[in-house]
Amino acid sequence: MTDEGCPSQDSFADLAHIEDQDSPADLAHMEDLARPLVELPDKLRGIGLEKDVAIPQIAVIGDQSSGKSSVLEAISGIPFPRGSGLVTRCATELRMQIAETFLARAYTTEKRDAVATLGTVAGVERAIAQLTEDLCGAQGFSAESIVIELAAPHVPHLTVIDLPGIVRTTTAGQAQGVIQQVDGLLRSYMKQPSTIMLVVVPSNQDVATVGGLELAAEYDPDGVRTMGVLTKPDLINPGAERDAVAVLLNETKPLKLGYVMVKNRSQRDIADDMSLADAHAAERAYFAEHCLFGALDGALFTVAHLKQRLSALLVARIRAELPRMRAEIDAALAAARAGLARLGRGLEHCPPEERVAAVARHVDAYSACVAGSTTGRYGGWLTGAFDADAEVDPDFKFEEEDDEGGGGGSGGAGRMYTDVYAAFTAFKRAVEATRPPDDADAVAALRAQQRRFRGEELPGFLSFDFFRRKAALLMDAWRAPADALVRRVHGVLAAGSAGVAAAQAARLPALRAMLAAESAEVAEDSAQRALERVRLIWEDERRQPLTVDDRFMEGINARRVLHIRSTLPPAQPRLQSGYAAGAAVIEPAALDAWVARYMKLGTDDSDTLAARDMLDFLATYWDVASRRYTDAVCRAVQAEMLAAHGAALRARLGGAARVDAAAAERCLAEDPLVHAQRAALRRKAERLAQAQAVVAACLA
Ligand code: GDP
Ligand code: MG
Repeated sequence: MTDEGCPSQDSFADLAHIEDQDSPADLAHMEDLARPLVELPDKLRGIGLEKDVAIPQIAVIGDQSSGKSSVLEAISGIPFPRGSGLVTRCATELRMQIAETFLARAYTTEKRDAVATLGTVAGVERAIAQLTEDLCGAQGFSAESIVIELAAPHVPHLTVIDLPGIVRTTTAGQAQGVIQQVDGLLRSYMKQPSTIMLVVVPSNQDVATVGGLELAAEYDPDGVRTMGVLTKPDLINPGAERDAVAVLLNETKPLKLGYVMVKNRSQRDIADDMSLADAHAAERAYFAEHCLFGALDGALFTVAHLKQRLSALLVARIRAELPRMRAEIDAALAAARAGLARLGRGLEHCPPEERVAAVARHVDAYSACVAGSTTGRYGGWLTGAFDADAEVDPDFKFEEEDDEGGGGGSGGAGRMYTDVYAAFTAFKRAVEATRPPDDADAVAALRAQQRRFRGEELPGFLSFDFFRRKAALLMDAWRAPADALVRRVHGVLAAGSAGVAAAQAARLPALRAMLAAESAEVAEDSAQRALERVRLIWEDERRQPLTVDDRFMEGINARRVLHIRSTLPPAQPRLQSGYAAGAAVIEPAALDAWVARYMKLGTDDSDTLAARDMLDFLATYWDVASRRYTDAVCRAVQAEMLAAHGAALRARLGGAARVDAAAAERCLAEDPLVHAQRAALRRKAERLAQAQAVVAACLA
C-alpha cells in the first residue's frame, strides 16, 4: 500500500501526522496506529452489527457505463460483471478482509441463509452474475442487495458497494418505474452519513454533464464524504486532455476531498484476456509515460493511490462516526436489555411449586387493574397493580394484537371509567331529546285530547288521571336509552377487560384467554343485573307521579305567570288632562272582556288556557323527573357494573384458591412468538455487547 509515492494533502487530512513523516518506518508505524480503526468496520460486520447500526462503507456512484464496476474490480481484484447498459441492477456489497488464503462467501440480503462458498475469483464472478439474475430477473431491479465477503491476501481492508448507474432515460424493454427505483436505491445509500461516496466521472466527458456530483452534494453539502474518480483517461479526445487535468487538479468542479484518475481495462483489454496484474502495470506505465499526466504529482493517479486515499478517508470517516456509532450501540443495547426484562424469563425459569402462586399473582394484579380502571381510580392501577409482577409491562403488546388492545374509545384498556362517563353523557342527551314539545300546536293538540278523554270531572277540573297517563306516555321514550346505556357499558367492560388481559398477560395466551373468558361472564352477569335495576327505576317513574322537589312548584308558577300574562290585554297609560300620569293600567272594560273570555267555563279560550296549564304541569314534571331518572340510572349502572365489577371478578377468579397445579401449568404456557422474540432480543443484546467491547478496545 505504501509502495507508490506520497499520499496527497487532502485525502490524508485526518491522518495529518502521517504526511509529516517521510521515512517508511514511521509511515508503517502510523499505519499500525490507524489499523484498529481500519479494521473496526470489518470486526463490527463480523459481529453482524450492520443490522443495528450503520457502519462506514464506500459506495460507488455515477452514470451508467462510467466505469464504476471497473473501479471496484481494480480495487478488489474481483472481476465485476461489466459492460454497456444496465449491467449492475442491484447493490453489490463487497466486504474485503486480508487473509492468507482466498475464500469468499456470497449471498443476498433476501436469503441470508443461502450462502455460497467460493474458492476462486472466477467463482465469485459467476456468483455475482447468478445472484443478480436471482434477485432481479432478466430486466428488473431489486432493492435487496448481494453481499460478497471476501478474504484474500492482496485486498484492501475496505467495504465497497457497487450500485446501479444513474438512469436518465429508459430504453425499450425496461419497466417505466426504473428511474425512480434506481434513484430511490441510490439515495438510500447516499443519505447515510456513514457512506463515503465515490463519484465516478469519465475523463472523456464534460464534468458538468455527469450525474452523481450534484446528487452527492445534496446529501454531503460539506463535502466531507465525497470523492471523485476520473476514469477512461485513454479515451480523452486528443487536445481535450487539459480539460481533464483541470478537473483532476480540482479547478473545474472542486471537491473538498479531490479527485484521483485511474485507467482501467477497456472492453478490448478484457477481450484480450489482460490480467488485472498486467492492467495495474500498464496503468502505472501509462501515467508515468504520459506527456501531460507524467509531469503531475504521481499521487493523483492510479488505482493503488485511490486505495490508499480511500483507506485514509475511511479511517477519517470512522473517526467522525465513532461517537454516533457508540451512542447508537449503547442506546440499542439498553433498549434490547429493557425488552428482555419486559419479556421476563419464561416459564422454564419458574419452579413448579411457584407456578400456582405466579398465576395467582397475575390474576390478582389483573383484578386490581380492572377494578381501578372501572372505578376511575387510575393512579392505583398505574403504580400499584403492576408492581405485583414487575416483569410484565402494561404497555407491552404484540403488533397483531393492536386491534383488541384498546378499550374502544379515548380511555383505552386502562381507562374504562372515562369511556363509561362518555356513555353516561350520551345517555343523558338521549333522554333530553325526548322532551315533549311546548308550543301552540302542542297546546291545541292537548286541548283536543282533554276534550275527548274528559271523564268524571265536572267542568273546570283538571284531570289528574289525564296527567298521569300523559306523563307515563312521555316516559315510554326513556326506556330505550337506558337499555342502550347498559349495552354500551357492557361493551366497554368487555373490550377494556380484554385489553387489560392482553397487557397483563401479554406473553401468556392461555392465561389471557382465561382472564378474558371469566371477565366476559362477570360482565354479562352485571349487565343483566343492571338491566333489571334500570327497568325497575323506569317502572317506578311510570307507575305514579311523585315529587317533593320544590323546583316542581317553582317551575309551575313561573310558567303560569308567564302564560297568563301573555293573554292579558295591554295596559294603557293613565291620562290626566290629555297627559300621561303615573303607571299604566288595564282599562276596566278590557279586564272585564278578558275575564269573560278566559275565566268563564265553557269558552274556547278558557279551554285553551286549561290545556296550557296542563302542558305546564307536564313539562315541569318532565324536567324534574327526567333529571332524577337520568341520575338514578347512571348510579345504578355505576353500582352494578362498575363499583362491584372488580370485587365480582376477584370472587370469580378466586386468586390462588381456584388455581390448581394443572391449571397453572396451562395458564403459564408461553406464546411461541414471545419465545422467538426473546431469542432474537438475546442475540441482539449479545451482538451489541460484543460491539461495545470492540469499539471500546479500539479506542483504548
Ligand atoms: P459501470 O456501468 O459504471 O459499472 O461501468 P463498467 O465498469 O461496466 O464499464 C463500462 C465500460 O467502460 C466497460 O466496457 C469497461 O471496460 C470500460 N472502461 C471502464 N474503465 C475504462 C478505462 O479506464 N479505459 C477504457 N478504455 N475503458 C474503460
Ligand atoms: Mg456496473
